[in-house]
Amino acid sequence: MKPGALLAHKRLPVLSINPDFERYSRQILFAGMGEEGQRKLQTASAVVVGCGAIGASAAQLLARAGVGRLRVIDRDFVEPSNLQRQALFDESDSRNALPKAVAAESKLRQLNSQIKIDGMVSDLTSHNAEELLNGFDLILDGTDNFETRFLLNDFAVHAVRPWIYAAAVGSYGLTYTIRPGITACLACLLETPDAGGMLEETCDTIGVLGPIVSLVASLQAAEALKILSSNTLALGNRLLSCDIWSGRLQSIAVARNSQCRACVRHEYSYLRGESQPHITMCGRDSVQIHERRRSLDLASLSDRLSATGLPVKKNDFLLKFAVPPYEMIVFGDGRAILKGSTDPAVARSLYARYIGA
Ligand SMILES: [Zn+2]
Repeated sequence: MKPGALLAHKRLPVLSINPDFERYSRQILFAGMGEEGQRKLQTASAVVVGCGAIGASAAQLLARAGVGRLRVIDRDFVEPSNLQRQALFDESDSRNALPKAVAAESKLRQLNSQIKIDGMVSDLTSHNAEELLNGFDLILDGTDNFETRFLLNDFAVHAVRPWIYAAAVGSYGLTYTIRPGITACLACLLETPDAGGMLEETCDTIGVLGPIVSLVASLQAAEALKILSSNTLALGNRLLSCDIWSGRLQSIAVARNSQCRACVRHEYSYLRGESQPHITMCGRDSVQIHERRRSLDLASLSDRLSATGLPVKKNDFLLKFAVPPYEMIVFGDGRAILKGSTDPAVARSLYARYIGA
């Protein structure tokens, strides 16, 4: 194609499409999609697990593309340091410390009111994975940790559901589409003795650039559109990685591991909850306390804490209070995030003292 060809003024074919499809007309014009593909997207569903940078961008692309039902699951709330790269959130969300799932649901509704969207403020664990993920055609990885990714992989392999692994850190990112029974799974790829070093670096330790996140989310969303419109022949079946600082792009074939714990031996240790600790690392200098099957009355907790003279901030979903040098954020389901320490003993002690066992 000549360099100017894409810019040349072309007469577009007259569309005889359903008026409901008008908003998707440019996508329908694309030969790989067509009306048939668009119809499939509109009856399809996807769940985005983790609505940070990658999850928010991917969810936005799928909502705009008209995927009929979207669920967004996230355990965290919006902070000022998210705004540099997390496309669905703005300054008022961080000022109000809104849960990301709540802010995302509201933004996605503004982008497309014709699809079903629900935001779930929840920490995905082995206890609620079936309940939160069941019934969706596709799972998108927007998480920031391998514990949850291996849980997603266990669920997806067990339920024979496709899912798309995606990660970015620094200027580097990658994505890989996993179709149980057809491709290698995440355990084939990463549960090898020499994979340990790959799992250490996080955005909270070495930072991350906004453009790599957008790029990885775009690759992930494109794979999602292929799957949800039944264009599986267009899937590359390779791990794609890129570094936007060096400009290096790679496409790597991933072999199935004939001894794989998950997709060969069907040992779903993450789904069975054997790997879920009570307190986990959660970003830089913070830990999360998982309190399951507990419902907290945030209003009375807020009154109780205020009465002791602690400054408490509260919205409908969470409350924050400071016990210098620490800050604790407590959610309605009993979960808490302690900032200012990575010591589980400190977290346990403050939780017991201020929230109760
Ligand atoms: Zn496997």
